[in-house]
Amino acid sequence: MSLVSRDPILLTPGPLTTSLATKTAMLRDWGSWDASFNAITIDMRKHLLTIANAHDNHVCVPMQGSGTFSIEAAINTLLPRDSHMLVLINGAYGKRMAKIISMMGRKVSVFETADDVSATAADVERLLESDRSISHVGVIHCETSTGILNPLREIAQIVARHQRSLIIDAMSSFGALEIDAAKIPFDALIAASGKCIEGPPGMGFVLVRKSVLEQSEGNSTSLALDLYDQWSYMEKTTQWRFTPPTHIVAAFHQALIQFVAEGSQAARFARYQKNYEALMAGMEELGLKPFLDPKIQAPIIVTMHAPDSSHYDFKRFYNSVRDKGFILYPGKLTQAETFRIGCIGAIGAEEMRQAVHAIGDALQEMGIKTKNIE
Ligand SMILES: *Cc1c(COP(=O)(O)O)cnc(C)c1O
Repeated sequence: MSLVSRDPILLTPGPLTTSLATKTAMLRDWGSWDASFNAITIDMRKHLLTIANAHDNHVCVPMQGSGTFSIEAAINTLLPRDSHMLVLINGAYGKRMAKIISMMGRKVSVFETADDVSATAADVERLLESDRSISHVGVIHCETSTGILNPLREIAQIVARHQRSLIIDAMSSFGALEIDAAKIPFDALIAASGKCIEGPPGMGFVLVRKSVLEQSEGNSTSLALDLYDQWSYMEKTTQWRFTPPTHIVAAFHQALIQFVAEGSQAARFARYQKNYEALMAGMEELGLKPFLDPKIQAPIIVTMHAPDSSHYDFKRFYNSVRDKGFILYPGKLTQAETFRIGCIGAIGAEEMRQAVHAIGDALQEMGIKTKNIE
C-alpha cells in the first residue's frame, strides 16, 4: 500500500509527470471539425517549428499514436521504395528504427557501437564514402535505453556535406536539448507529446523539410501512417485526416504555452540539468554508480548500476520505491544489472531529492548497505 496520498511522481521518460494545468486542459470535449479545435492544432504546429528554429524550410506534421507511429510514418513516407538507409545504433531505439526500415521493405544497413559508445562523424563519413548507395542516415539524438547523448551536430553536418538525407529520432531530447535547424541540417526530426514538452502521451509529430515532403506522395505503403496525406489534408482543411486525439492535443498545446512561459528550451534544459545534478549528488551519497561516463550523459534519463548485493531484487526495490511515491524505470541492458531514473517531467530538484531519500530507505529496508549509513 502506498504511504503517500498524492499520485506517484513518474521518474520515467514518458509518460511523465505533467502539471495540473496540463491535466485540467483534458477536462473538455472538442469537436474535431470545430474551428476552435483546429486553431489549437495550427498554433501547436507553429510552436513546434519555433522550438527547432525550423520555420524557413520545414513543416510540422502531427500524427496520432505513440512516438513509434510517427517514426514509422516518417520512414515509410519519406523513403522512396529504392532507398538505402544507414542507422547508427547504440541501444534499443536505434535497433527499433532499423527494424521499421526493414519491415517497410526498404534496404537498411546498420553501424552498431556499444551501449556506452557513440558513432562519430568520422565513422559516418567513412561509411558514406564507402557505400554511395546509402541515401538516408538515421540517428537517435538521446538514446533513451541508457541516456547517452549522441553527437548530433557533427553527424548532421557530415551527412549534409555528403548530400544525404538525415532522419533524427529526437523523441527524448526535443524541447530540452538545443536543436536549431540553422545549425543542424535535417530532413526529418521526430518527437512526441509525452516527453520533454511535458504533455500526455498519445501523439507524435515530424518536422520535415517541405521540399522533401512535397516529393514523397505515393511512397507510403500504409494508409493510416501516410505522412504526406496527413499533411496535404491538414493544409487543405485545417483538420486532422482521421479522428484526432482531441484531449491530448488540447493538453499538449497547454503544455507548450507553459513551456514558453518557463523560458523555452534553455529554461527546460536548465531545470533538467538541476534535476540531474541533484539526483547524481544523492546517488553518490548512497554509493550508487552511474553506468555512463558523465561526459556523454544527457540530463534526460540516467542508467544506474544496481547495488552489488545478494539482497537486491529489482521488483521488490521498484515496489518499495513506488509505495514511497516514485515510479522508477527498469534497465534495458543485457550486460549489466541496472535501473533507470528519469530527470524529465513537471518536477524540480526538490522532487529529485525526495526520490533519493525514497531510494535510500528502500535499499535499507531490503538490508542493503548504503554508503551514507556505513
Ligand atoms: C520514447 C521514445 C520513442 C518512442 O517510443 P513510444 O513508446 O512509441 O512512444 C522513440 N525513440 C526514443 C529515443 C524514445 O525515447
